[in-house]
Amino acid sequence: MTTVPLLDLGPQNRALEAQFEAAFRDVLRSNQFIMGPRLEAFEKDCAAFLGVKHALGVSSGTDALLLALMALDIGEGDEVLLPAFTFFATAGSVARLGATPVWVDVDPHHFNIDLADAARKVSPRTRAIMPVHLFGQSLDLDALQAFAAAHKLRVVEDAAQSMGARWKGRATMSVGDLGATSFFPSKNLGGMGDSGLVTTQDDALAERARILRVHGMQPKYYHREVGANFRMDPLQAALLHLKLPQLPGYNCARAGNALFYHGALKGVAGIAENRAGADRAAKILLPVDFSGQGIWNQFTLRVTGGRRDALKAFLTERKIGCEIYYPIPLHRQECFVSRGYPGADTVEVSEQLSAEVLSIPIFPELTGEQRQWVADALADFAAGKGA
Ligand SMILES: *Cc1c(COP(=O)(O)O)cnc(C)c1O
Repeated sequence: MTTVPLLDLGPQNRALEAQFEAAFRDVLRSNQFIMGPRLEAFEKDCAAFLGVKHALGVSSGTDALLLALMALDIGEGDEVLLPAFTFFATAGSVARLGATPVWVDVDPHHFNIDLADAARKVSPRTRAIMPVHLFGQSLDLDALQAFAAAHKLRVVEDAAQSMGARWKGRATMSVGDLGATSFFPSKNLGGMGDSGLVTTQDDALAERARILRVHGMQPKYYHREVGANFRMDPLQAALLHLKLPQLPGYNCARAGNALFYHGALKGVAGIAENRAGADRAAKILLPVDFSGQGIWNQFTLRVTGGRRDALKAFLTERKIGCEIYYPIPLHRQECFVSRGYPGADTVEVSEQLSAEVLSIPIFPELTGEQRQWVADALADFAAGKGA
């Protein structure tokens, strides 16, 4: 029996251990523990990597979203379109500013926001749309831009799971008014703690975000507006800076694992690709990278026929890590139900996916033996051996 964790950070970080230790010593001896040249150097290289004019290191992906919305003055009375099927922070950041999240359904094949449903939910109060490039796959960025222009909306891209993902060559985080990503350890560029990044191509928005990041303070001890402490530690920046050049390699290895799963399970009875018109008898649907340039933060199956939890138990029995991202769509979260935000009764796909999805190991350092073990388990389950 082979053991396959859902994610193992060990091999990736061990490979850079000596460099991490040197970076730590460098920061320690610099005595500069807030802001400064190490953070700026990391920001500069992130901006170059993404093809954006400005990148600001911040305290977390959640704070990146919050700061981006604050820079746009989103607040009470404003509606923000966002998917009902995503991590909590997308909607939490909107709600914390007193604005109204409007639940939009997602596409059953690429799992990202359904712009046709978004169009139905635009109102005179709609100010912005927050697409989430979920599981590492970019939304169609051309369609996104056309949608925002047609409805005169601001765009904040939640790219927490998609740093390095592209659509026709353009990076996520580069087309919205602002972009936000996260360096939470399980993201493709994972730090050693919490931190995140805000991006923009707009000088004025960058300046506003910079000031809001330090309590709305400019110059020192003069506060024109209320900001907060949204800073990234230079120590975290120095550590992440060592991993940034490795990110394309990490992403490539994940894509290689996805390709392996598709190859190993091609033609297996009961397994099909998650495309329109997929084999209706299939029990397990494999995720497809429709953008062709996704980064596979997750490899998320759809398990039909109410068999998802059975597959989870089956994989767990075989010591294969798996997780449900996400078991409850956001419009059903207790903290939001009582507020009665709009759109909740027309997000059927989000509800369906919450009952069907299961993410399996895809991290870059999976061994050949491990991924074969996972593929064999899926084939066995589809053949009814787990029934
Ligand atoms: C991880 C994540 C966030 C939040 O990032 P943190 O760094 O954990 O605060 C926001 N949105 C999505 C879609 C995420 O996956």
